[in-house]
Amino acid sequence: MGTIRTVRGDIDASTLRAVNTHEHLFQVSPLLPADELTDLERSRSEAASLRDSGFASMIDATPIGLGRNPVGLADISGSTGLTIVASTGMHREAHYGDDHPLRQWSVDRRAAAFVRDIVSGMPISDPDGAPAEEVEGEPVRAGIIKTGIGYWSISAFERMTLEAAAIAHAQTGAAIMVHLEHCTAGHEVLDLLSSLGVLPSRVMLAHADRLNDPGHHVELLARGCTLGYDGAARWRDHSDHSLIELTAAVIERGEDRIVLGGDVARSSRYVAYGGMPGLAYLGDRYVPRLRYRLGSDAVERMLTANPRHLLKLIAPTA
Ligand SMILES: [Zn+2]
Repeated sequence: MGTIRTVRGDIDASTLRAVNTHEHLFQVSPLLPADELTDLERSRSEAASLRDSGFASMIDATPIGLGRNPVGLADISGSTGLTIVASTGMHREAHYGDDHPLRQWSVDRRAAAFVRDIVSGMPISDPDGAPAEEVEGEPVRAGIIKTGIGYWSISAFERMTLEAAAIAHAQTGAAIMVHLEHCTAGHEVLDLLSSLGVLPSRVMLAHADRLNDPGHHVELLARGCTLGYDGAARWRDHSDHSLIELTAAVIERGEDRIVLGGDVARSSRYVAYGGMPGLAYLGDRYVPRLRYRLGSDAVERMLTANPRHLLKLIAPTA
């Protein structure tokens, strides 16, 4: 039924299950000072807790230039048994400091790096380190293209990344994940990507649930995209109850192409780094409540069928 590219090789999509579609095992960003994820053993321990909470797979959503660690991902995947899909691409502009070398990259340079990550493999360290190899000497390859935009804003930098993502998508068939700020400009991103030849069905809009508006979500989903709901445990901004009811309202209107993630993303919230609530929160605390409210079939689609659909490499059409 199709191929999914993981950090330890390609798998048949039918074998992928229970996917957390948004976490970070390694990440360094000037936007998250003193919250870096850089310790292999702590990240391994946190990944094991994610597995023990009921997830079999995850997307590591750290793109180029923000401390991603392909060798570390392959190592953790091997030791924990978690299936991990890594990201190429570039985040929204604010994550890159004023003197970050990636700011100088043209659209073609970006596209070439994205294609390289998916086809030949990621470098040990960005931007141009030696090729990363997993234990058996195989390259560690990315399986999804991460992009991002600002709050009601697509900067020149971000537009270049989206253009490069469309080129890489056409060459590899990999899906595109777009980080949205409070779910703003979802329609505009889908319009832009469509104009670049990317069907909405190959796009996932991450953090859509930061806007609690089921009507808006239904309209986005009706275009064929996937929405990422990855904001549980952010009680300061919204309750899990409101997130569950948002999900129920969208599903009751007949749209269900939703995927789940945790996006905990900060060492101060990883148990293995001394924080809380950790990557186990989603599986231990949130998913059971979602199941109780929506039933197992609906949740199973979000955890397995929808991520399979998204992550399948669709052969580019001539
Ligand atoms: Zn994230």
